Amino acid sequence: MFGYHGKFLQVDLGTGEIKVLELKADDLKKFIGGSSLAAMLMYDRIKPGQSPLSPDTPLVFATGPFTGTRVPMVSRLAICGISPLTGIWGESTTGGTFPFKLKASGFDGIFITGKADRPVYLYLNNGKAEIRDASSLWGIDTYEVQKKLKDELQDAGVSVACIGPAGEKMVPYACVMNDKGRAAGRCGLGALMGSKKLKAVVAAGNLKTELANKEKMDELTKQARNTVISHYMNPIYRELGTLVYMELGMALGDVPAKYFTKSVFPAEKIGGKALKETYNATKDACYGCPMMCARVVKNFNGIDEVHGPEYETAAAFGPLCMNYDLNSIVMANHLCNAYGLDTMSAGVSIAYAMHLYENGILTKDRAGMEIEWGNGDLIVRLVEMIVNRQGIGELLGQGVRRMAEELKADPEEAAHVKGLELPMHDARAFQGQALCYATGPRGACHLKGSHYRFDLGSMAVPELGIAPSDRLKSEGKAEVSAIVQNYNEVFDSLLLCKFATLSATQISEMLSNITGWEYTPTDLNTAGERSINIKRAISNKLGVSRKDDRMPRICIQALTEGSTEGKSPDMGLMLKEYYDYRKWDWDTGKPSRQKLVELSLEQAAIDLWPSS
Ligand code: SF4
Repeated sequence: MFGYHGKFLQVDLGTGEIKVLELKADDLKKFIGGSSLAAMLMYDRIKPGQSPLSPDTPLVFATGPFTGTRVPMVSRLAICGISPLTGIWGESTTGGTFPFKLKASGFDGIFITGKADRPVYLYLNNGKAEIRDASSLWGIDTYEVQKKLKDELQDAGVSVACIGPAGEKMVPYACVMNDKGRAAGRCGLGALMGSKKLKAVVAAGNLKTELANKEKMDELTKQARNTVISHYMNPIYRELGTLVYMELGMALGDVPAKYFTKSVFPAEKIGGKALKETYNATKDACYGCPMMCARVVKNFNGIDEVHGPEYETAAAFGPLCMNYDLNSIVMANHLCNAYGLDTMSAGVSIAYAMHLYENGILTKDRAGMEIEWGNGDLIVRLVEMIVNRQGIGELLGQGVRRMAEELKADPEEAAHVKGLELPMHDARAFQGQALCYATGPRGACHLKGSHYRFDLGSMAVPELGIAPSDRLKSEGKAEVSAIVQNYNEVFDSLLLCKFATLSATQISEMLSNITGWEYTPTDLNTAGERSINIKRAISNKLGVSRKDDRMPRICIQALTEGSTEGKSPDMGLMLKEYYDYRKWDWDTGKPSRQKLVELSLEQAAIDLWPSS
């Protein structure tokens, strides 16, 4: 087998059993790797009504066939499970060195079930694995865990993925951190790790996989590097990081402000230039990436080194909360990294609390404090209260869907899809984005359906016959949204960074020469479609239906200012077109039996359509 070790580590933390799960070539051809392969491996284990935090709910770490090669921007990892935040299919990716190290440990991924009777960590090294005691690590933050494990193992070359106090306390949107400030942020998979008493996974080793055609791969890798380096985005992200989007996004009406009710805000106060000039922020990168979009700030408020913030984080703790104070944004981001908390769900939940407070639904009595807009110190304090599940922090830590239920607030003002808080790309600015959010496999997600990047021209897939559209119109968005989603699934199967500006032709050629199996851009699209549909089938088993494919009113109602003034996406029109294109059943929200069979998902066809 080329491009893969052909095996996952399978660990039952309840019994302590460790074995090797051999992967079948046919499954790898169809599902490629990453989150798609994880969904295939998990499919049979997930039953209707299954609790995310039940010991038998799997937690999967998965690499892909590109991981460990010299192709640029491939050191990514997928972490998957049932989301403790949403209760449906959950996944998140992270970068850094850990993904590369995990593959070098001799496994394509890890399939974890069970619950340990004490805190533990997994140690993987050159094809061997051990469950080790982590009692002394329980309660400490993610930076400290990483340092202690490297010291204990006397090996600075190991890489550590771990949870912080938020994951231990099972805050529903706790995340997994690695390589200091890299995060698998969304869907609460840190809480899933915490429920298994798994504090960390440590990866070490130097095992490589063979390439089917090494000579050709040398040539294609060189071309890929040139493509990435010569793209116009490369110097921009290198210079100012993802925060560079703040000003452009605000001009386009794409940065939501005041909890999705405004789109005008002095973005330059908290943009990439401000971060660089105020803190002398420098660049950082995932393993082998020439784009280097990550930021590091040294000597921040007495802390040696903090990482970020990224655009999404700064937008959530900034304009969404009407907060101009960059210092508090950097601090809130750092605390989320250290404690292991998703910055996006945290920022949206805090902004929602401010909105509810202004409207008298969340009272001072209930909150135990005033929750006014734009108070940076308050944001930092609330992050700490969320992590500690203390006072009003307990409620904010549940996310906006449960906040609305608890406070009996208008559910149309709770900014989530299927329980996952909206990202910081306003659905009024790119109407196809609203459709991607409504139908995304893990809920509202800008990475699974990046229609905005497609309409902006920073992502293009001419090989699949789609072209950028009028961003402020809803007509004709379904096919583009579906193909953009499929294509993003391919990236998360290969574990290729979404900023990689490689063409579908380049990607399919490299995949063919790594694995020795022939792929075309159309095959990639089919693989992405299969991935979307198996994840949808999992979520259907867990109760998702068409009524869940929706956008909350507050995020789509027309604004009276900014560049989207008076514009609102037509969800009914787009969803109908989308269901027709996907061949999903309009009454139930399930993929049709015909579509599942066409994608070789026969077991899902039987499970979802037992009487057909
Ligand atoms: S562009 Fe950023 S996120 Fe992507 S691989 Fe490079 S450093 Fe990592």
